[in-house]
Amino acid sequence: MAFFNKLVGALSQDIGIDLGTANTVVSTRKEGIVLCEPSVVAVRKGTDEVLMNGMAVGNTAKKMLDKVPGNVEAIRPLKHGVISSFDITEAMISYFIRKVNDRSWGLKPRLIVSVPMGITTVEKTAVVQSCERAGAREVYLIEQPMAAALGAGLPISDPAGSMIVDIGGGTTDVAVISLSGCVEYRTLPIAGDELNAAVVAHMKEHYNLLVGEQTAERIKIAIGSVVPMEALGQEEMAMEVRGRSTITSLPDRAEITSIEVRNCLRPVADTIIETIKEVLRATPAELAADLVERGIMLGGGGAYLRGLDYLIEKTVNLPVRIAKEPLYSVARGTAFVTESFEELRDVLEFGGDIG
Ligand code: ADP
Ligand code: MG
Repeated sequence: MAFFNKLVGALSQDIGIDLGTANTVVSTRKEGIVLCEPSVVAVRKGTDEVLMNGMAVGNTAKKMLDKVPGNVEAIRPLKHGVISSFDITEAMISYFIRKVNDRSWGLKPRLIVSVPMGITTVEKTAVVQSCERAGAREVYLIEQPMAAALGAGLPISDPAGSMIVDIGGGTTDVAVISLSGCVEYRTLPIAGDELNAAVVAHMKEHYNLLVGEQTAERIKIAIGSVVPMEALGQEEMAMEVRGRSTITSLPDRAEITSIEVRNCLRPVADTIIETIKEVLRATPAELAADLVERGIMLGGGGAYLRGLDYLIEKTVNLPVRIAKEPLYSVARGTAFVTESFEELRDVLEFGGDIG
C-alpha cells in the first residue's frame, strides 16, 4: 500500500493555487506557472448558479464585470480578503483545477493553496472541502504573506527578520517573517481596488464622468503614480478617458493628467505606508535591526505602481526592493512548496491527507 501511494504521488500532479482577491494563479511542480486569471465568477443574478454550465469563470467572467445585462452578475468571491460565498468560491476553484489537471490521466492532485491571511478557520475548512470536492487527493494551506515571501526569494527560515508587503487587489498584507513564521503582521482591506475607486470618484467629481472600475484600473496602470514623475526620471503624462456624463447621461470623454491621478492615488498609498509603519513599530528590536540591512520586499500587482517603492523608501528610511514578477510572488511560493514539499512542510499550516 505504501508503495502504491508513492507511485500515485510520483505520477499525479502537485498543484499550487494562489487564491488572490483579484487574480488566481496556478502552478504545477513540473511546469511552474500555468494559469493566471481573474478571480471572477459570472452567476445568474441573486443565485449561486454559474453561467455557461460552470465555465463562466476567470477571463470569460471578467469581460462581463462592468458590462453585464440585468439578469447576470459578475462576482469576485474574495474581494475584501474574506470569502463572500462558499459555493461560488468552490465553483471557481474547481474550474481552475479542471483546467490544469486534465492531462494527468484522472489521478487526483495534491494541492497547496495559499489563502488570504484574514480568513477564519471556518473559511479555511470550507476551502479545503471545496478542493476535496473538486477532486484533490490532499490539500494543504499556506498563508499568503508566507508564500509571497518564499516566492520573492526571502530567506524565511533564517533566524532573522524579513519584511514582505504584498499589495493585491482587495488587501495589502504586511508581515515580518522569521524562522518560518509570521512574527508580526497586519492585513489592510485597502489595495489596488481602492486605488481604482479613487480614480472613479475623481472622474465623477471633477468631470461629471461616470467610468467603470476597469477603465479606472486602466488609467491607474497607464499613467498612475504616487510621486512626481520627475523624481523617477520620467515625464508627466495625459490620456483621454471615456465614460458617461452624469449631467446628460450621454457617452462623453475627458482628458486627464498624471498629476491629477497622482493626487487621488497618493492618500491611498499613504494609508498603506501607515500600516507598514505600524508593523515596524510592533516588531521586536532584534528583528527590526535585521530590517535595517535587509529592507522591505514588495510583492503583488500593486508593487508596480509608479514610485511606490521610492515613496516607501523615503518615508520609512529602509531599502525597498520589488520582487521579480510581483504578480506571481505568491504563486511562486506555492510552486516552491510543491517542489520541496518535505523541507517546507513546517510553513504549511492546515489541511493534509483527507483520504
Ligand atoms: P490579488 O493577490 O489580491 O489577487 P494581485 O497581486 O493579482 O492581487 O494584484 C492585482 C492588483 O494589482 C490589481 O488591483 C491591479 O490593478 C494591480 N496592478 C496590476 N498591474 C499594475 C500596474 N502595472 N500598476 C499598478 N497596479 C497594477
Ligand atoms: Mg495576492
